[in-house]
Amino acid sequence: MSDDKKNQKHKASMEKQKEKVDARIEQASTERGVAILLTGNGKGKSSSSFGMIMRALGYGHKIGVVQFIKGQQLSGEEMYLKEHCPQVDFYQMGTGFTWNTQDRTADIEAAEKTWAVVEPMLKDPSYDLVVLDELTYMIAYKYLDEDMVINAIKNRPVEQSVVVSGRGGGAKLQEAMDTVSEVKEIKHAFKAGIKARQGVDY
Ligand code: ATP
Ligand code: MG
Repeated sequence: MSDDKKNQKHKASMEKQKEKVDARIEQASTERGVAILLTGNGKGKSSSSFGMIMRALGYGHKIGVVQFIKGQQLSGEEMYLKEHCPQVDFYQMGTGFTWNTQDRTADIEAAEKTWAVVEPMLKDPSYDLVVLDELTYMIAYKYLDEDMVINAIKNRPVEQSVVVSGRGGGAKLQEAMDTVSEVKEIKHAFKAGIKARQGVDY
């Protein structure tokens, strides 16, 4: 095929594609905040959440970030947001991974204390975005009541978006969310013995 023919074919196919995309954009007419669940076993759930925080910051939005599980490491995102972004309210559960603490009663207490921070955020229309990092584990371990969490997300202010991240999450939570993405592990450096990397993994 000549280059001319190839170019013509490409143009015709792009025109068709544009028509389809424009029609779909036309159809999406509801204006409201979205509820997003980022799940799966691969790397990229929390980093994606923090990517959305960066987007929201670009528009001067007010953001709440609550991390339900704290590793031993401080994270780059926590250090940066706390130091440079006064429009971000950052809260951490403050206990280690549940397989490190091995203390169920203390974990439940910490989860409930943390939920007491989340609840008012999910009622406050001044928050444009609320990120609930690793919340899924609190539901999986039954540290927090699933229906309570789902109802709070469902009843949040109409313009507020919420992002939940963490492995699992369950069918009920998935059903309640508008967007659900699964990050699938194809490979992970850790499995080849490569250490978690500052600025990449934490
Ligand atoms: P990230 O914060 O890098 O986006 P994540 O939120 O998807 O990762 P988590 O389960 O919260 O994944 O794990 C956090 C830490 O564990 C990160 O340091 C991440 O690189 C690492 N990690 C994520 N997935 C895997 C995996 N499949 N195998 C080993 N380590 C992983
Ligand atoms: Mg994570």
